[in-house]
Formats: sequence, structure tokens, C-alpha cells
Amino acid sequence: MKPDLFQAPDYYNIDELLNDEHRLVRDAAREWVKREVSPIIEDYAQRAEFPKQIINGLAEIGAFGPYIPAEYGGAGLDQISYGLIMQEIERGDSGVRSTASVQSSLVMYPIWKYGNEEQRQRFLPKLASGEWMGSFGLTEPDHGSDPAGMTTNFKDKGDHYLLNGAKMWISNAPFCQVAVVWAKNEEGRIHGLIVERGMEGFSTPETHNKWSLRASATGELIFDNVKVPKEHLLPNKSGLGAPLGCLDSARYGIAWGAIGAAMDCYDTALRYSKERMQFGKPIGQFQLQQKKLAEMITEITKAQLLAWRLGVMRENGTATSAQISMAKRNNVEMAITIAREARQILGGMGITGEYSIMRHSMNLESVITYEGTHDIHLLITGLDITGLNAFK
Ligand SMILES: Cc1cc2nc3c(=O)[nH]c(=O)nc-3n(C[C@H](O)[C@H](O)[C@H](O)COP(=O)(O)OP(=O)(O)OC[C@H]3O[C@@H](n4cnc5c(N)ncnc54)[C@H](O)[C@@H]3O)c2cc1C
Repeated sequence: MKPDLFQAPDYYNIDELLNDEHRLVRDAAREWVKREVSPIIEDYAQRAEFPKQIINGLAEIGAFGPYIPAEYGGAGLDQISYGLIMQEIERGDSGVRSTASVQSSLVMYPIWKYGNEEQRQRFLPKLASGEWMGSFGLTEPDHGSDPAGMTTNFKDKGDHYLLNGAKMWISNAPFCQVAVVWAKNEEGRIHGLIVERGMEGFSTPETHNKWSLRASATGELIFDNVKVPKEHLLPNKSGLGAPLGCLDSARYGIAWGAIGAAMDCYDTALRYSKERMQFGKPIGQFQLQQKKLAEMITEITKAQLLAWRLGVMRENGTATSAQISMAKRNNVEMAITIAREARQILGGMGITGEYSIMRHSMNLESVITYEGTHDIHLLITGLDITGLNAFK
């Protein structure tokens, strides 16, 4: 793979909207990605393997629980810093960002928000340091966009719960120590349970043959009469709103992360267009290539403003789930379109692992589907503006 020459575009001087802490956090993450992720990521993606040696570094840049208070091992940062960390990590690879998103928003967040003090003290510091990795089990083989239909269930057996069922498409599953699992009790109410590796009847087979997010490990969570101690139930929130609250946080991170992938594709294509000569000129001199590049930077700039404004609203507690859906949907589509256009600017070279674009393009096919598909987010906006529910 070519050396990482990334120079972040900032056409509207978004830097002026950031404070010193935001810039420090962002720059540290950017340098770390350049040093630790870029040189190895193509190789790991080609081999379909998650690079476990970067876990400590991810913890050090605050990628595990950026906004979780320091007393629980988190970085205690604000929502904009969280977004910027996700942007920088996904600039390197969406699979690595997925690992960090799951750990932070889908595992640490529910333990912090819905767990009791004992659960927070026991699990959060180890998750923040990366000593333990976590996964989040919501999706099932027969229930993806419609998680309310889940069949994974637990029964009260007096001194423990008995958990049965299966989850599919679970990021980090093959190596997770801890899984936050959503299951129905005997009354059909959804609750979160913390399941630990080693509990009898719990297995996590890996999902192979992915053409997307190859550097992120994906698998199943299978529960065959797993005895879960009662103190592993998250006591402070139940119902579908509990997992959806986690998804709000993760989707917000994706809205920023997608900008990183788009920036990397744009920056690569811009540099290539100035170096690659055809018909005696750099291809960047042809109007058709300029149109592609000009549209890319326009869309990246709009996406940056959307994410920044959403971050301000998240920070002051006013962002709605529907507003988060809009940003996730818009920014991921923006990134996938840019990846496809950038790939074309590189011609044949664009399909190789010499450059990052094809990997980003394939990765974004998952990002546009997980955490709510492109269609589902549109229906959420539709419901929000009309008051009419297209899901029913
Ligand atoms: C690499 C990867 C990692 C993932 N990681 C996790 C994870 O860590 N934890 C987890 O719980 N899940 C995870 N997922 C699962 C992901 O969230 C689901 O794939 C996603 O929610 C879609 O579900 P589905 O694949 O079952 O598609 P389906 O729900 O079957 O949808 C298929 C198609 O039908 C459309 N559709 C569905 N309902 C409607 C409707 N009402 N109106 C119009 N169109 C509709 C969808 O938009 C889609 O185009 C991951 C998925 C992938 C690919």
C-alpha cells in the first residue's frame, strides 16, 4: 500500500467551530491512525482479520468510551470530540471504527446508562482500557430491521435467568469477553443482559466470506440454556427504547465516521488527479474530473456542518432520534457516492489495494446497512415529518 499522505480537507474552515480540546483530540487520533492503522490495514483487510494489536492504541486515543466519565475509565470528552475520534478512525478503516463504536456506544453506553453502580464499576474500566472487548446482540436471523419481533428469551429460574436464542451479524462477537444481549422475558418485555465468555452454552462462531468490513470480526451469539446470574440484568431501562438509545449514540458516531472515509477517498483522488498524466495533461485538468472533485468537496463540507450541528445538539441534550437518522443516512450515502466516484478517478489503479478507496467503498456497503438501513432511516424521517407511520 502507498504511504499515507492524507491531508484533511476543510473547505469552510470548520476548525474555527472547534475548541482547543477538540483539535487536540482530533489531531492525536489522526496521527495515531497514520502511524498504527494505515501501514497495516490493507493487509489485515485482505486477510479478513481484525488487527488485535491496535486495541491498546484505540484505548489510548480515547476511542473506547470517549464520553464516559473518567471515574469509570472513560475519556470524559464531549460529543464533538467523540465524533471527531470516529471521523479519524474511519478515515483509516470503517471496520476499525465499527469495533470502537460497538465498544463505546453499544456496550459501555448501556452499562453506564442502564446498569447499576456495581455493574459500572465491574465492567466499564476494563472495557475502557481494552482489556475486555464487548459486543452488542440485537439482530437475529429472522429479525433485522424489525428487532421488536426478536425471539431470544430468558426465563426466571429463581436464582438465575435461563437464556435461549441466537443473534446474527454481531461485530466483535468472535473475540468479545462481554456481550450486551437484548432478549424478552416471559411477559415479552425486552431487557438487556450482560453475558460473559465462558458461561456454559454460550458460543460465538465467526461469520466468514464477507466482502465488506473485512478487518472487523463479525459473528453469531448463540445461547443454549445459558445460566445468566440475576445481577447481570441491566436494571434501569427496558423495552425497545433501551437498545434504540444505544443506537442513537452509535449512529451519531457513524455520521462523523463516514466523513472520514469520504475525506480519505477525496484526498486520494485529488492527489492522483494532479499526478496522473493522460493526453499530455494531468487528468485533474479535464472538466469531467473537476466536476467529480468539486462535487465531492461540496458534499463533504455539507456533511461536516450537519455532523457538527448535530454534535452541538447532542451536547445540549436536544438532538432527536430522527435528527440522528437524517445525519447517519445522509453522510453514509455521501461517503459511498464519493468512494465510487473517487474509484473512477483512479482508473484501474482504483480497484487495487495500493490505494484505500476500494476498501472504503466495500466497507461502506455495510455501514449503509447496519445500525438501521438507508431505507429505514428515510422512513424515520418520513414518520417524523408527516406523523404517519409507514412501518405498520
Ligand atoms: C458487517 C455487519 C455488522 C453488524 N454488526 C451488528 C452488531 O454488532 N449488532 C447487531 O445487533 N447487528 C449488527 N448488524 C446487523 C444490522 O444492523 C442489520 O443487518 C440491519 O439492521 C438490517 O437487517 P437485515 O440485514 O436483517 O435486513 P432486513 O431487515 O431483512 O432488510 C432487507 C431490506 O429490506 C428493507 N426493509 C426492511 N423493512 C422495511 C420496511 N418496513 N420498509 C421498506 N423497506 C424495508 C431494508 O431497508 C433492506 O433493504 C451488522 C450487520 C453487518 C452487515
